[in-house]
Amino acid sequence: MLNVKNLTFSYNKTPILKDLSFKIEQGENLAIIGESGSGKSTLLKVLYGEYDLNFGNIYWKDNEILGPKHNLVVGYDFMKYVAQEFELMPFISVEENIGKFLSNFFPKEKKERTAELLEVVELTPFAKTKVKTLSGGQKQRVALARALAKQPEIILLDEPFSHIDNFKKQSLRRNVFKYLKEKNITCIVATHDNNDVLGFADRMILLNNNIIEVYDTPEALYKNPKTPLIASFFGEFNVIKGKIIYAHQLQVVDESKLKATVTESYFKGNYYLVEADLDDEKVFFENVSKLENKKIIYLKISK
Ligand code: ADP
Ligand code: MG
Repeated sequence: MLNVKNLTFSYNKTPILKDLSFKIEQGENLAIIGESGSGKSTLLKVLYGEYDLNFGNIYWKDNEILGPKHNLVVGYDFMKYVAQEFELMPFISVEENIGKFLSNFFPKEKKERTAELLEVVELTPFAKTKVKTLSGGQKQRVALARALAKQPEIILLDEPFSHIDNFKKQSLRRNVFKYLKEKNITCIVATHDNNDVLGFADRMILLNNNIIEVYDTPEALYKNPKTPLIASFFGEFNVIKGKIIYAHQLQVVDESKLKATVTESYFKGNYYLVEADLDDEKVFFENVSKLENKKIIYLKISK
């Protein structure tokens, strides 16, 4: 179990993380979300032991994770961290990078392990390719595989799919998160992309104003978003009479008290996101077809 108690941290005078407390069980997937600059990367680095805390403690099982003041070499064998800006060895091949920290005394196991991880990150055809010739997204996949090579108990991933194109992203996410669950590896993912969270995270933490604003399951937070910031993570939403209403919860009906004028329709694939004017406020809703600008419509809130 990872146990974080009253963690407080600042780089200089301004505090970045204030009094954070949370726990994660072995094998759980925790998402850390928040706007850019909210401290997601800082939290991962602090959990990894890269910095000394101002206050508080971090424990992984019985080990206290300590910063550089108390620890000659940053990091622990049971924990791996894949930074937003990953570092690889450019002049050796993909498989050599992945196997870099695996023992040469077990050549068969090393080969099998490397092959398994190449499959997970879908880079088998690139096994012999030199890393310096890869794209940013491919390098990110090598970094992921390398972090998994020695099978850590806990892995910290900072925006792990950010450089990967949309064609590959979906299947890669499924592969990686499924692999982590199968191996019972605890995982903490910093992200601002709800696709990294929905369907994968057991719990999520929203960092805002230096504190944990909410800590719950994605489902609970989605169904009952207490603040606009939470709702905005999940998609387009409106605040109507003080209530948060997602765009898909509004539908066009023949008659209602919510009379609006269409101002724009955006093609979204299997629906149009329609923007309309409701009592001088913008509202967004989803509709199967495009609506003409200036058309008068009536909206109903569905549950
Ligand atoms: P996020 O990952 O959520 O975008 P970061 O953790 O990178 O946020 O940054 C949080 C805050 O800490 C920002 O205001 C950033 O400018 C500041 N910060 C990040 N790294 C450093 C550093 N090495 N020294 C001083 N301030 C930093
Ligand atoms: Mg970051």
